[in-house]
Amino acid sequence: MFQKKNNRPFLIAGPCSAETEEQVMAVAHGLAPLGVDLFRAGVWKPRTRPGAFEGNGAVALPWLRRVKEETGLRTTIEVANGNQVYEALKHGVDVLWIGARSTVNPFSVQEIADALRGVDVPVLIKNPVNPDLELWMGAIERIQQAGVTRIGAIHRGFSAYAKSKFRNAPYWEIPIELRRRMPDLPLICDNSHICGNREDLLEVAQQALDLNYDGLMTEVHTTPDAAWSDAKQQITPFIYGELLSRLIVRRETTDNAEFLEHIENVRHKIDEVDLELLNLLSRRMRFAEDIGRYKQRNNISILQASRWNEILEKAFSQGRERGLSEDFVEKFLSAVHQESIAHQQSVMQTAPVGVAE
Ligand code: PEP
Ligand code: MN
Repeated sequence: MFQKKNNRPFLIAGPCSAETEEQVMAVAHGLAPLGVDLFRAGVWKPRTRPGAFEGNGAVALPWLRRVKEETGLRTTIEVANGNQVYEALKHGVDVLWIGARSTVNPFSVQEIADALRGVDVPVLIKNPVNPDLELWMGAIERIQQAGVTRIGAIHRGFSAYAKSKFRNAPYWEIPIELRRRMPDLPLICDNSHICGNREDLLEVAQQALDLNYDGLMTEVHTTPDAAWSDAKQQITPFIYGELLSRLIVRRETTDNAEFLEHIENVRHKIDEVDLELLNLLSRRMRFAEDIGRYKQRNNISILQASRWNEILEKAFSQGRERGLSEDFVEKFLSAVHQESIAHQQSVMQTAPVGVAE
């Protein structure tokens, strides 16, 4: 379940919301010929502000049964509480997903988990809206502990206050770390909610496949501009088909000996560089400790803002010349700076109190 098949990602597609029976059927008929694995539609919609379309509720569930009967597509909806789980199962929904606003709340997740006890329906768990891997894993564990065996994670990006081209910042390092900790858990990219627009959908989907994700969840609507929710990010079945045809699916590995040998050599060089980096960083910390001792003797504070700005400015231009982005240089040096301060602090706390002046 949720894994790549014949070198093709597991595909979940459908409208953001089930608006009318006609709309649901039209999208499903548009998607069925494209080989989609699972038809999505929101029946209960968690909306940020009141007044927006909050879904048709249980009335829409028979429409999904009709989708399955007429097109053969299996269906999935979002559930946010025990009653919704009960209603969805009663109407034969095949897969349930937990939305980003529910994953943040352990009470909600536990209520859903309790409702799932004894019913082995597949469940997908979206990342929480905030970039907190522990919370995401906690939700996954609660569903596992309810006895659900077919589980997948959906990466839909994270709320960020800072403006960016994305609606939800991807922070790829979080799903990558999830994969490291739970290597057997299928991982699906919801490129629609990450992007919040149509233009970047292909780029984000490709990035996910390059990272060896198992599948994609994408919002598709026959008349996207007129959608009752998330109009800006939905695409027609035709455009979705185009997107699929442009995706390059890569294999995780190969048994080609020449390729493997070449990769092995380069990896060895990378390991050597990493070790060199660690040695350099350790040397840098020894200097920081020297400075710490000296500042302590002279009763000088650790942090001098002007010095830190000076380091950053210089590093931005030096980094640029070496093909390193400003964003990376800032993240890297901030981490180094933090560690440096910690070393200075430990020296200042342990060294004998010097005579000031
Ligand atoms: C959705 O899939 O339409 C949805 C509401 O998603 P999320 O929980 O990721 O915001
Ligand atoms: Mn949506």
